[in-house]
Amino acid sequence: MAAAETHRLTRQIVIAMLAGMVLGVILNQVGAPPWLQLGLIDGLLYVFGTVFVSALKMMVVPLVFASLVVGVTSLSDLNALGRIGVKALGLYLATTAIAVTIALTLAGIVGPGHGFDAGTTTASFSGKEAPPLTQVLIDMVPTNPVAAMAEGNMLQIIVFALLFGVAVTMSGVRGKHVLNFFADLDVVIMHMVEWIMRLAPYGVFALITRTFATQGLDLLLPLAAYFLTLTAALAIQLFVTYPLLLRLLGSLNPFAFLKKMRDPAAFAFSTASSGATIPVTLATVEHKMGVKNSVAAFTVPMGATINMDGTAMMQGVATVFIANVYGIDLTLTDYLMVVLTATLASIGTAAVPGVGLVTLTMVLGQVGLPVEGIALIIGVDRLLDMFRTVCNVTGDCAVSCIVAQSENALDQAVFDDPAAGSVESATRHSIPTAPAP
Ligand code: ASP
Repeated sequence: MAAAETHRLTRQIVIAMLAGMVLGVILNQVGAPPWLQLGLIDGLLYVFGTVFVSALKMMVVPLVFASLVVGVTSLSDLNALGRIGVKALGLYLATTAIAVTIALTLAGIVGPGHGFDAGTTTASFSGKEAPPLTQVLIDMVPTNPVAAMAEGNMLQIIVFALLFGVAVTMSGVRGKHVLNFFADLDVVIMHMVEWIMRLAPYGVFALITRTFATQGLDLLLPLAAYFLTLTAALAIQLFVTYPLLLRLLGSLNPFAFLKKMRDPAAFAFSTASSGATIPVTLATVEHKMGVKNSVAAFTVPMGATINMDGTAMMQGVATVFIANVYGIDLTLTDYLMVVLTATLASIGTAAVPGVGLVTLTMVLGQVGLPVEGIALIIGVDRLLDMFRTVCNVTGDCAVSCIVAQSENALDQAVFDDPAAGSVESATRHSIPTAPAP
């Protein structure tokens, strides 16, 4: 895809998103007649939106695996791998802790939930147990790598791909044959990702229109204080915390970064899944931001799995909201406990689906708040999930850039070039990692 075409596509995706929101809200407010509901909202839009997300998810496992193997083999020394891992993990934890702190502070100031009538919501929620951290550590090593791939277990895939990549590097000339194959595979898979990107405006439109047509905005009103506090906290993380970190730790231009975030943000918003967004995040970080594949192939899937700043912020605001509704005072120790639990929970629940609300159960339990409180916010959770996923994905990209910069693995010229990002450049970039046949 040529650079001009990439730009046109990004514009189309943003327009599709806005058009979807407007049409969805109108359909919700006016009330779609049954034939429209059946044929369009639950028919065409549902099928196309679901197929689009499935197509994205279809690419995640092959892309992450091939990309990681190629990335590991292109690292000049294996110590670098450990260093990148430690830096990424440290930054992922730090950004999450900052995120919850911001969320708690803002919620403490605004005080959402005071005077909220708990009778306005009838939904119920029963908590699911999150696995203990020890189990998560044990589960990181797959007993069967094929099963790990079949289940899309990201941490297990990362561990297997890393070991496989190291073995390829150490296997001499035979390893080189394998590497050649993976380098080529990586390029082929990127072409498939490009096909899905071309469909993105339609996919995004279908997803967003249906979500807003189904959810509407009426649910927001009683929960406006909660909704607005959380979106404001997310905005601070997006437009203050990440830019500051990029500037201070990476000496990188935050405006250039934010501009390049448009595609992954639109995907994250419409799919509400950092996992499904991995192909777009990876393509953006590598080809638009200039992060070398050796870093991005590792930090992006790792971040999508363990780094959930937006989710942790939701948990912070939700905790204060629920405490206020039930008239329970939180102490300073409680606040610190929330920071700790929400930060650790973002790693600890990697294997559990429906991440945000599950980990919220843990956080509430930790400070002795009733888990049923989640039922109060469940109505707006789908919409907020879209917003917080944008924050989660932006955090992954920011940390990837900072780690790459510290490892001398960021191409400044690509980062600074607003037109960077064509798939041809990706193809050029991937091939030299394999030795010439
Ligand atoms: N939807 C979020 C994500 O995929 C996780 C969550 O908050 O539930 O990043």
